[in-house]
Amino acid sequence: AIDVQGLHKAFGELEVLRGIDFSVARGEVVCVIGPSGSGKSTLLRCVNLLEEPSAGRVMVADTEVTDPDVDIDLVRRRIGMVFQSFNLFPHLTVLENLTIAQRRVLRRNRSEAERIARVNLERVGMSEKEASYPAQLSGGQQQRVAIARALSMDPELMLFDEPTSALDPELVGDVLAVMRSLADEGMTMLVVTHEMSFAREVADRVVFMDGGVIVEEGSPERVVGDPQHERTRTFLARVL
Ligand code: ATP
Ligand code: MG
Repeated sequence: AIDVQGLHKAFGELEVLRGIDFSVARGEVVCVIGPSGSGKSTLLRCVNLLEEPSAGRVMVADTEVTDPDVDIDLVRRRIGMVFQSFNLFPHLTVLENLTIAQRRVLRRNRSEAERIARVNLERVGMSEKEASYPAQLSGGQQQRVAIARALSMDPELMLFDEPTSALDPELVGDVLAVMRSLADEGMTMLVVTHEMSFAREVADRVVFMDGGVIVEEGSPERVVGDPQHERTRTFLARVL
């Protein structure tokens, strides 16, 4: 579903990604771990062109998103993204947050958009809150709404950038449970996370990044359970 080859990204003099090659197969869950500043968010943002790569090739399904002629809005429409901050529209209800892009971007009519929104609120356990405003919800509830909003656009794959790291510890589990059920349903997911238990239990593959390169990748049992590189061991000793 995602194929990245020779990806480089520099901000001025600062080389943040220094030659990244990796892929995510359809239905696969890949977790990206690594220290702060290693380039994890930049990598995710290059996949849906929130950042423009300096060099290299990014394919999403059969579309080369790094092709200058590509319609990036069409590509982004196929990719759901969930960030650390929930980015819900504060002046809209939960239901309206889920229908607005469906109506404007996908041109669904109101009743169809609401029907799909309700299916997805049910999936994340937020049906009861459809008339609430974001400020009336906990962080974990807002994040589940943000996931439901992304799902309402029928994405082919989902990108998550530390979706639980802004949450109070007692709210993390609910969001991870939603992500786990998505994985069980076969969603293709690329997840930046510090939640090692999630990586161990849910990821098909774990990628460890440091200094803008992939230091090692493999099954969670291998990368988290039996790391081959000193840098990985040092990192894991700090987060585990
Ligand atoms: P964290 O775990 O803290 O989220 P990260 O691995 O996601 O870190 P990135 O956000 O990808 O790291 O940042 C990698 C490096 O790129 C950092 O040194 C950061 O300061 C730099 N950087 C990121 N975005 C920009 C930008 N728009 N302009 C300049 N530098 C940037
Ligand atoms: Mg980041």
